[in-house]
Amino acid sequence: MDIEALAAELRREAKALGFAACSITGVDLGEAEARLQQWLAANRHGEMDYMARHGLKRARPAELVPGTLRVISLRMDYWPGGEPPASILEQPALAYISRYALGRDYHKVLRARLQTLVERIRARVPAATRVFVDSAPVLEVELAQRGGLGWRGKHGLLIDRGAGSYFFLGEIFIDLPLPMDTLSSTGHCGSCTACFAACPTDAIIAPYQVDARRCISYLTIEHPGAIPEPLRALIGNRIYGCDDCQLCCPWNRFASLSIEADFAVRHGLDRATLAELFPWNEETFRERMAGSAIYRIGHERWLRNIAVALGNAPGSTEVLAALRARKHDASELVRVHVAWALHRHAERGG
Ligand code: SF4
Ligand code: SF4
Repeated sequence: MDIEALAAELRREAKALGFAACSITGVDLGEAEARLQQWLAANRHGEMDYMARHGLKRARPAELVPGTLRVISLRMDYWPGGEPPASILEQPALAYISRYALGRDYHKVLRARLQTLVERIRARVPAATRVFVDSAPVLEVELAQRGGLGWRGKHGLLIDRGAGSYFFLGEIFIDLPLPMDTLSSTGHCGSCTACFAACPTDAIIAPYQVDARRCISYLTIEHPGAIPEPLRALIGNRIYGCDDCQLCCPWNRFASLSIEADFAVRHGLDRATLAELFPWNEETFRERMAGSAIYRIGHERWLRNIAVALGNAPGSTEVLAALRARKHDASELVRVHVAWALHRHAERGG
């Protein structure tokens, strides 16, 4: 099969598998390497040591996976619908969970589809491939941007003119010289600074530069220990991730509902109260969160995050009772955050 026909076939198959867009790019990431070095040198990756672990290989796909000639980037939209985010964020007794995590774990969904796509390519032509989904070694925004899937917004995420930014990216590294797509635009943020103003913790320190150590997504998902005290009150009711820099982005007016049933809201997580989630024991957490990306943070971090949000909620009888019931929790991490939350309520006369 000739290589042009194979690329056309690949795009057709990707669409049939539910991917909204697909691009093919080369392995030279040019100046992205210098930006990566600066970000790491400034320690903005916080405790995400795995970000530094692969060194410059992250900006050099052919070194990360020897033999790679092209990177195929694939986009899958996830907006799940459900309760309007603004309404949840305005009701501090409710739990806000990032919209991408309300359904099934996207890692599993995307990985399975990428594997199927790889099998279909291999059925036509022998190829060495490796699949990545939200994987630290890969500079996925850079690769997708170079292939024309959109531009990096000032909040650091990829934006598509017709679809906004509510999507996942996955990559296939491949050793075939497929025809490359070209960069379609250098960016359409213009003079907009909406995401800077919207970020609750001022984590966007300059255009295209997010300090992970201040970012609520990092703090509630990746960060292993205690959440720094000065940031706790700013987290509000966000117990898993944060969407504020995307919710305010004008390009997300063009985002549409995901066609994937797997990303639909599960267990009413789009409207749950903090007080109803906090009593979950480990077994309940494992049972309800099985198959969800939230499962990955584990029960202890889940409770840590909810304790912070309960400290930020109005001191109702339910909120105070939920906190007091975990005053002597077996986990020190949880106890520390519960103590902080109760102290906040005491200061406010709760
Ligand atoms: S995810 Fe939230 S905390 Fe992180 S940069 Fe965006 S708005 Fe700021
Ligand atoms: S909110 Fe404005 S500046 Fe931020 S990513 Fe969107 S368009 Fe760009």
